[in-house]
Amino acid sequence: MYVTKCLADGIFEQGQLNPYGNIELNPFAAVLNYGQGLFEGTKAFRRKDGRVFLFRPDQNAIRMQLGAETMCMPSPSISQFLHAIKKTALANRRWIPPMGKGSLYIRPLLIGSGPILGVAPSPEYTFLVYASPVGNYFKKGLSPLNLYIEDEFHRATHGGVGGVKSITNYAPVLSALTRAKNRGFSDVIFLDSVHKKNIEEATSCNVFVVKGNLISTPSTDGTILPGVTRKTVIDIARDHGYKVEERSVPVEELLDGDEVFCTGTAVGVAPVGDITYKGRRVEYKIEGQLVSRDLYSILVGIQTGIIEDKKGWLLEIE
Ligand SMILES: *Cc1c(COP(=O)(O)O)cnc(C)c1O
Repeated sequence: MYVTKCLADGIFEQGQLNPYGNIELNPFAAVLNYGQGLFEGTKAFRRKDGRVFLFRPDQNAIRMQLGAETMCMPSPSISQFLHAIKKTALANRRWIPPMGKGSLYIRPLLIGSGPILGVAPSPEYTFLVYASPVGNYFKKGLSPLNLYIEDEFHRATHGGVGGVKSITNYAPVLSALTRAKNRGFSDVIFLDSVHKKNIEEATSCNVFVVKGNLISTPSTDGTILPGVTRKTVIDIARDHGYKVEERSVPVEELLDGDEVFCTGTAVGVAPVGDITYKGRRVEYKIEGQLVSRDLYSILVGIQTGIIEDKKGWLLEIE
């Protein structure tokens, strides 16, 4: 794992690769007491010929910088971030699965690691990057998601931190997620906290609805995490003749869709089989020609080099 630190001056020193293992923290560390922390997630893919690529890691670097500003933290520069990701991927090269068998999930973490008693920004920060091999999300063919629309708990509010990958956004969704899982659902969809009328997103992925040739997804106005996969899928869809709208999406419109799918680095582009809202269960198209499958195969095609990377989304590591 890659590790570097900085003091309140905000300048991260030259990082180093350490063996993966526990880290030591002062019990007063800002991250432990006041949740001053951010994470990122990206993947390294291996191609048939053995070459290894990262997908749009610059987007993760930019997102971490924006999040750091929100959380009152200094952040590594874009080039430091990319250097750390590449170093970590290379050091863990033997753990990158062969093409089609999965990928190396890379997890950058920025935390307030210095001791502080009162509520204030940390006097020291640590930037860590570690990794783990992951399999394909769908192990045996297509297993669509079944989602529950959560109308009691909310994930984010206007003026809050829902739009950044703050570590403080995840423990608060666990009770809703656990309750839904106990009832047999794979995830929840949160509603806007003002009107409980428009859909926002799931616990760790963005949501899209398809009706005819129109694809709609909630706009990223501060309560939704701006996913790299979301942005990529929107670009791919527009380039392939679909109409894409980013705007408020009422829950009724979601329930009336032909197809629904989720996007994220972990899930890729995952079709949704059914959604339950206030005791009513709605089913979606999951067979035949699917917009989600079309978009996902283009995305995977670009990642694996079968389709030309015209937009410079891939970064080879060597
Ligand atoms: C990480 C995340 C996503 C997906 O973002 P990607 O950059 O596509 O991986 C969506 N929603 C939430 C809440 C997330 O934490």
